[in-house]
Amino acid sequence: MRGPASTLSSTTLRVLIASSEVHPYSKTGGLADMTGALGRALARAGHQVGMVKPLFRGLRERVPQLRRQDWRFDLPLGNRRVDAELWVHEPEPRLTVYFIGHDPYFDRAGLYNENGRDYPDNAERFIFFSKCVVHLGRYLPWRPELIHVHDWQTALVPLLVRHQRRHEGWTEAPRTCLTVHNLAYQGYFPAWAYELTNLPWDYFHPDCAEAYGQLNCLKAGIATSDRLTTVSPRYAREILTEEFGEGLAWLLRRRQSHLRGILNGVDYDEWNTEHNPHLPASYSWQDLRGKALVKQALLQEMGLPGSPEMPLFGTITRLAEQKGLDILLPALHEMLAASMRFVLLGSGEARYADALQRLQKLYPQKVAVRIGFDAGLAHRIEAGCDFYLMPSRFEPCGLNQMYSLRYGTVPIVRAVGGLDDTVVDARESLSRANGIKFHEYSAAALAHAIRKAMVLYRHPDLLRQYQINGMKVDFSWDRTATEYTQVYREALAAPLLD
Ligand code: ADP
Repeated sequence: MRGPASTLSSTTLRVLIASSEVHPYSKTGGLADMTGALGRALARAGHQVGMVKPLFRGLRERVPQLRRQDWRFDLPLGNRRVDAELWVHEPEPRLTVYFIGHDPYFDRAGLYNENGRDYPDNAERFIFFSKCVVHLGRYLPWRPELIHVHDWQTALVPLLVRHQRRHEGWTEAPRTCLTVHNLAYQGYFPAWAYELTNLPWDYFHPDCAEAYGQLNCLKAGIATSDRLTTVSPRYAREILTEEFGEGLAWLLRRRQSHLRGILNGVDYDEWNTEHNPHLPASYSWQDLRGKALVKQALLQEMGLPGSPEMPLFGTITRLAEQKGLDILLPALHEMLAASMRFVLLGSGEARYADALQRLQKLYPQKVAVRIGFDAGLAHRIEAGCDFYLMPSRFEPCGLNQMYSLRYGTVPIVRAVGGLDDTVVDARESLSRANGIKFHEYSAAALAHAIRKAMVLYRHPDLLRQYQINGMKVDFSWDRTATEYTQVYREALAAPLLD
């Protein structure tokens, strides 16, 4: 094994980041924003970075610079062998993105599901992808010294690496780090899927890959990764409790000394109000006039009357239980009688989409709902609204509240996870206040927070102070990337876990 001393003395690191989603290639949520920005930030800091992801549908057309490599994956998957192609893109110096091409798995309309149904072979698809990651980690000529995996889709990688180090002669195997972006998604599959790993059944026990007789991919990663991180300090504490631990709190507590909460950064090259191709006007904290123009344009785009005196509330969200739609809908039913309007962009569960569309029918002059995924409209909602609603049941980090702060759109959030870490309420600091927090998970508590926002809206000087406070907060990636490199160096210096 490479001596930790030599690794410690070198200033640059060789890191392979593996994720099912990487912005700007494929995205369903914050995972993509985070991995894409992390890779770029590490490369810009001088580290050698590889990123590996599946070659999903449409990428070859959208990224014409993709080159096919002379590389052969021919890997066991249960009792079969499956091959794949390797495609490469080098978007900037020191950053190489590797795409695993296997059309039967990845050339599909969705990443994980279609028409609200998970693909029935998700275990097979992502176990195979994880094996390709390990294969690259082992044979890439630049020899990554650490593999950083994200969420359940790649969480079997640390176990596969550990097994190959112990039993298959990979003496110089890299260290591993697993980031949990959302503990609610664990990659649970029937036990037979474990056969696809080709690992011995020794690991299929409740301290590792098994839970209640099933395969649990995330659990295997939590048990075997050299380092664990999650995406905000508060969520790192919350997941140690039964309330937020999703059945894994005991295991996380066991691994607590290797767990760290690192707040995600914001890619301000993309999420800014001054050089943004998605916005019809620009503005800054020194001069907010352009924001009113964006609001007017947004109202028009969404088909709402252009009366600027009414506050506009907005949200962009996956339509999933986590995001608090069960309290948002009744709170809006209560509040829409008052002088406010609401716009929403979201995709996900049909029951929420239907309920939102009913709300729109009930209040056609006040509510506009767009079901779908639209990156440009997401920027315009962030910028054109006065207030941004994020009433999450739980929120590992949350990016939209950070985007709102930068866009001068006051966030109204439930005080959980990363929302609590990033938003400052007047009760915490009057001079630094930039948002409104509520605690109880109830429609009444959210409606109360919306009422507070409407009072704030009637005090333009105070509102402006909130906006300026938010716009000046800096969540840039430099800090986040530095914290990750600290974790990597710790992993490289620590004795091997066995
Ligand atoms: P999560 O990852 O839990 O969905 P985050 O707040 O961390 O939530 O990140 C969500 C990201 O996905 C943001 O960049 C947000 O703008 C984007 N997003 C979510 N839904 C949509 C949508 N329907 N259209 C465009 N962007 C969306």
